[in-house]
Amino acid sequence: MRILVTGGAGFIGSNYVHYTLENSDSEVITLDALTYAGSRDNLDGVLDHPRHEFVEGSVCDRELVTDLISDADAVVNFAAESHVDRSIEGAESFVETNIEGTQALLEASIDADIERFLQISTDEVYGQILDGAFSEEARLNPRNPYAATKASADLLATSYATTHDLPVLITRTCNNFGPRQHSEKLIPKFIQNASLGKELPVYGDGSNIREWIFVQDNCRAIDLVLRKGTPGEVYNIGTGIELTTIEVAEKILDRVGGSTDQITFIRDRPGHDQRYAVDSNKIESLGWEPRWSFKEGLERTVAYYVDNGI
Ligand code: NAD
Repeated sequence: MRILVTGGAGFIGSNYVHYTLENSDSEVITLDALTYAGSRDNLDGVLDHPRHEFVEGSVCDRELVTDLISDADAVVNFAAESHVDRSIEGAESFVETNIEGTQALLEASIDADIERFLQISTDEVYGQILDGAFSEEARLNPRNPYAATKASADLLATSYATTHDLPVLITRTCNNFGPRQHSEKLIPKFIQNASLGKELPVYGDGSNIREWIFVQDNCRAIDLVLRKGTPGEVYNIGTGIELTTIEVAEKILDRVGGSTDQITFIRDRPGHDQRYAVDSNKIESLGWEPRWSFKEGLERTVAYYVDNGI
């Protein structure tokens, strides 16, 4: 299989590129615009891989994506603006990449002989849930601009499946953590600050709950959906590992060495969702289950940041 991986120099995308080259005989073309969030360093060790080609460019470049997709069997679309706080400051680039970029990829796929189009989405499209967990049939109720652009992309992808008979699949995953994540995100930032004796800034009262998945488990799930999923279907990917922000901070301070006095409370994010949770029965029935505990994943993540000199 020849897979076009967009956003493959970012956090999850680069882990997926490494995973695919190590665990399959697929060829990978990575397309990435190398925004502040993407880095060639994330592809260290695979840039010269005989089954890998790196292309610097945007998913919004219709000519380029048409050309790349004409030569691919599958598209896995990770490319996105992904930081909620930035989308609150200004959502224009989110609309451009997350919606218009996805539409450009879908459009270019119509006339190409694509076997699979996998749209990488998020649990945030469902909005918050105080009890229980969302199934794939739940109403989309995005509550911040980032989530709204991701939900829009999901709807576009689904519409292209219906209207143009494109073999679209969607994964909606909970919060990822692991190596190669940008330092603006919660866990890398807390690891860095904890190890430097700095403050760990926590929004509001720190009671917001997120479901966490080690990125390697997400890569396995994405690979399974790509190869074994049913076109037209959405697959939630979650672990049941639920932690408040305070609990995450405490676990990191405990592992890295630091005092809970370093935890500081800052003004809450506007529209901050209290809790996300997804029901993962559907992907589990394909034979997937998470392998990494939060503790083991954190161990590997801290080791990565220490090795890379944070
Ligand atoms: P990231 O910000 O680390 O990486 C995004 C990548 O996309 C970067 O390499 C960036 O350079 C690239 N990119 C941005 N605009 C582009 C454009 N116009 N054309 C080509 N490339 C472009 O994000 P991530 O955390 O790795 O997330 C990847 C995907 O997974 C996103 O679609 C995100 O919505 C989704 N997701 C992330 C999480 C999470 O916890 N990180 C959870 C669920 C879903």
